Amino acid sequence: MDKKFKSGFVTIIGRPNVGKSTLINRLLGERVSIISSKPQTTRNSIRCIYTNDEYQIVFIDTPGIHKPRHALGEYMVKTATESLKGVDVVIVMFDCSAEIGPGDMHIIEVAGKVDSPVILVLNKIDRIAKSRLEQVAASLVTHENHFDAIIPISASTGENLDELLKEIVKHLPEGPKYFTEDIYTDMPEKFIVSEIIREKILELTEEEVPHGTAVDITSMKERENKDLIDIEATIFCEKDSHKGMIIGKQGKMLKEIGTRARVDIESLLDCKINLQLWVKVKNDWRDNKGALKNFGYKWE
Ligand code: GDP
Ligand code: MG
Repeated sequence: MDKKFKSGFVTIIGRPNVGKSTLINRLLGERVSIISSKPQTTRNSIRCIYTNDEYQIVFIDTPGIHKPRHALGEYMVKTATESLKGVDVVIVMFDCSAEIGPGDMHIIEVAGKVDSPVILVLNKIDRIAKSRLEQVAASLVTHENHFDAIIPISASTGENLDELLKEIVKHLPEGPKYFTEDIYTDMPEKFIVSEIIREKILELTEEEVPHGTAVDITSMKERENKDLIDIEATIFCEKDSHKGMIIGKQGKMLKEIGTRARVDIESLLDCKINLQLWVKVKNDWRDNKGALKNFGYKWE
């Protein structure tokens, strides 16, 4: 093997409706893919992971960069730029079938200040004539605005996505596979949802509690004709005293865990969530490999 594996983090900036979600879903081939927030990325949440034999691209969402027009200003640009630190590639996406207006300048300004390579992606080329594409590109690329590459694509039809991937990979460093493939192939949403709930327990309770905690998603169903998912989860802990801490006085702690988890799950699955949590004591679950398997942990 002469080629080394490459991996890295990529973020997509763009105003609402330019096609960010469509691109990610297209790359992953399904509606919702992986999403997780890992301890090392407290400010960034993972939206999806694209892996093949040669590389792994972890697409992350950096909060603070999709600000509405009224929030423009030096401070916002600074915060947004700050949130992009540590990203290997920044993709700036525009809808080239729409007018490029003053609001777009916020995005351009942010992109201009980051150190990472910036790829300008002009989306929705299926909707416009080639001459228009050239006009749009010319209006965005001036001598103040430098981009490492300009890639026109259609996230809907998939046109030119190969080119985009190639360009991204060019800028990725050599690195390990941060995530195993099966994380998003066989058990995507449930696993991630349970991790989010666990993360909230970790954030909110005393330190000794979380280590003895596992979360089992007992049911996850889309409600018919509604943009809503009902999720039922059981939190297993080791001792009655832990159960008490997780539930809290008059159920306050559990309520807070549920609220915070719900907000994250909603933003990640892009859908309303009705989350029900139960807490049970399960003695010594950690010693029981069979039980662990049920919780989605793998032994490798
Ligand atoms: P986001 O807000 O940036 O995540 O944008 P979405 O991915 O939700 O897309 C907004 C709208 O644009 C949706 O109706 C998409 O179907 C549509 N859209 C996205 N990409 C394309 C494209 O390449 N061509 C066309 N014609 N429509 C697109
Ligand atoms: Mg979106």
